[in-house]
Amino acid sequence: MRLAASMKTEVMTFHVDPQVCQVSSNSPPSLIQNKPVFAAPAPIINPILREDMGKDYEEAIAGLQKLLSEKSELGPVAAAKIDQIKAELATADKTTVSHTVEHLKNGFIHFKREKYEKNPALYGELAKGQSPTYMVFACSDSRVCPSHVLNLQPGQAFVVRNIANMVPAYDKVRYSGVGSSIEFAVLHLKVKEIVVIGHSACGGIKGLMSLPDDGSTSTEFIEDWVKIGLPARSKVKAQLGQAPFGDQCGLCEKEAVNVSLGNLLSYPFVRDGLVNKTLALKGGYYDFVKGSFELWGLEFALSPSLSVKDVATILHWRLY
Ligand SMILES: [Zn+2]
Repeated sequence: MRLAASMKTEVMTFHVDPQVCQVSSNSPPSLIQNKPVFAAPAPIINPILREDMGKDYEEAIAGLQKLLSEKSELGPVAAAKIDQIKAELATADKTTVSHTVEHLKNGFIHFKREKYEKNPALYGELAKGQSPTYMVFACSDSRVCPSHVLNLQPGQAFVVRNIANMVPAYDKVRYSGVGSSIEFAVLHLKVKEIVVIGHSACGGIKGLMSLPDDGSTSTEFIEDWVKIGLPARSKVKAQLGQAPFGDQCGLCEKEAVNVSLGNLLSYPFVRDGLVNKTLALKGGYYDFVKGSFELWGLEFALSPSLSVKDVATILHWRLY
């Protein structure tokens, strides 16, 4: 337990090396200073230096060895744990940590020089506020960043990313995080389009399609979350139940988008936006294997009996 607690409180702080700033420019960008720039002035969590972490390991090992001496029947279990901790300690690569931090540091330096300082008009406007055209739901998958794939610039899209790009139905208790994002985007930012984007080889959809039929779960959060897409899974099983699993997942990746579009209709302010024609809903699908993108519109009838079946393709284009 102590190990876990100490890991959680680790806070990264770093100094920007002035030499880094001199690599491609005579003077460093004004925001880059030779002092901690990402560290909070008054950290809420007290940082624990990486060097101190070895102590925690040592204390953990000592504790386990004490337990081992007191309760001999725990011998094999405790010995295995000690071996595991020692292995972790031995492979803790401090240079890896510094490389990952360097990457972030250099990334910001690049952004600052090449984008922020070269677009003062854009960033000046964004400093005053945001008025994005789109709200985008995309998967958390590291390969499908919508800003990257669709060339969306800062200020253009209000983005929510989660496992399998799911939009749950209106539920103040279970899904207040998603609900608050939709409420803010629609009522306060007044976005014109909500776009839900699925993607190829989605691990979350694979998890949804792999759920055991007996309803049992083996994860803390993941399976419960992807169950939002159960109607899509049912439709795919009915249509392609005999097809290869990969094909089923491919179809489900798109059907789950339609389920999310249907779920969006359960939010009253989304319905109001559709009725007043100030808001439109779109489904999208990015295939990073083929390098293609599809977009489709939602045809809807504003009746209480609206179901996923009513979701139809009215606008559909594909780019290769
Ligand atoms: Zn995904």
